[in-house]
Amino acid sequence: MSAAIQLDRPADNASMRLRVEGRIANHDSEFEGAIEINTETGLIEHVGPRTGKSDLDLDRQIIFPGFGDLHIHAREDASQLHAYQEDFATVSAAALHGGVTHVADMPNNPRAPVDDATYAEKEKLTAKSAVHVTLYAGIGPETNPLQRHVPYKAFMGPSVGDLFFASQEQLEEVIAKYRGKNVSFHCEDPGILQESKSAATHEQRRPASAEITATGFALTLIERYGLIGKLCHYSTKDGLELIAAAKARGVRVTAEAAPHHLFFDDSMLTDENRLWLQMNPPLRGREDRLALIAALRDGVVDYLATDHAPHTLEEKRKGRSGVPHLDTYGAFATWLMAEHGFSVKDIARVCAYNPGKFVKEFLPEKFGYGFGMIAPGYVGSLTILNPDAPFTVRREEMKTKCGWSPFEGFTLPGRVTYTVLEGKVYPTD
Ligand SMILES: [Zn+2]
Repeated sequence: MSAAIQLDRPADNASMRLRVEGRIANHDSEFEGAIEINTETGLIEHVGPRTGKSDLDLDRQIIFPGFGDLHIHAREDASQLHAYQEDFATVSAAALHGGVTHVADMPNNPRAPVDDATYAEKEKLTAKSAVHVTLYAGIGPETNPLQRHVPYKAFMGPSVGDLFFASQEQLEEVIAKYRGKNVSFHCEDPGILQESKSAATHEQRRPASAEITATGFALTLIERYGLIGKLCHYSTKDGLELIAAAKARGVRVTAEAAPHHLFFDDSMLTDENRLWLQMNPPLRGREDRLALIAALRDGVVDYLATDHAPHTLEEKRKGRSGVPHLDTYGAFATWLMAEHGFSVKDIARVCAYNPGKFVKEFLPEKFGYGFGMIAPGYVGSLTILNPDAPFTVRREEMKTKCGWSPFEGFTLPGRVTYTVLEGKVYPTD
């Protein structure tokens, strides 16, 4: 990652502005215009018609509000036990490379953030990251809500880490203490995972029924305890119908989809790629994949969230679940546009507006109206894409510390050209 570009203006200019002009895409509008960002506050001050004076040459490119990834594993905590895989500095470099301007980090660390003290301790480490990090607090069998207002994550069954429940009853007992809170669920039913554990393949050991059953239960908990719920890395077609029905009856639930479940399905697995494409929940069938793409495009699923899970090459060879994605986030968005009919407004909605809305209530005040819109008062972070500049994914170009990508060798149709972070420009080519 190169350092931020220095603007060619006198340094004594007290109120520096970054001017960016071109084709602008919000979730509800698309227009030719000019954006002025105050580089001291980092906020957008003015959006208006083009003037012909831009600090960046953005011919044939699209300017989006800064993308946000609501599901990453940065791996760093006070124990530093997993920092060999990733840390807040390297995850930030990978995010900027992929056009991601803020992230939300999951709590399944060795020293999990489960109370005010452990949460504050982990939060200090996020200062190494240039992109803003929102931290989830973990919910486990022994935990209680924090004093602070934070988002929470509950792992229903065993995945990677120790924060999980053995039964639905045990989970409900704990969730009852979190009434009205913002809780994200990893939906895989522990009982079904247990029954399936001697099946032949990873995909069969974590069947679709585990997600569908857990979804039904998560939706019940969300309704019963008035939660603001989110279902993580969604993967099954039949479960999508449960989400759509819940939304239709007014349940406060949103859902994420991850690039691997949108791009790969189990018909593409071979002896060579099987270990690299292992994650929880696993790849599903082609029909599930196509239904998920349609659900993200049509609004049943709300966020493109990666579940960025940096494991080393050696760990992957031994069968560890999870794949890294931050470096390729923006390029992947161009694939959704080119191959699956996502409009630029759809991309602005699932990559910027909805993630911005999710984190808004947890942001420090300096972020004004927060992330997700190109409008005065919002954070001056932008993701600039060239949708017609093919990007071949190469291991050596990845900024994630784990140093690989499940898209290696694939060519995505477009790329990120610049990531603007609170008025600072980071070229990514
Ligand atoms: Zn995850």
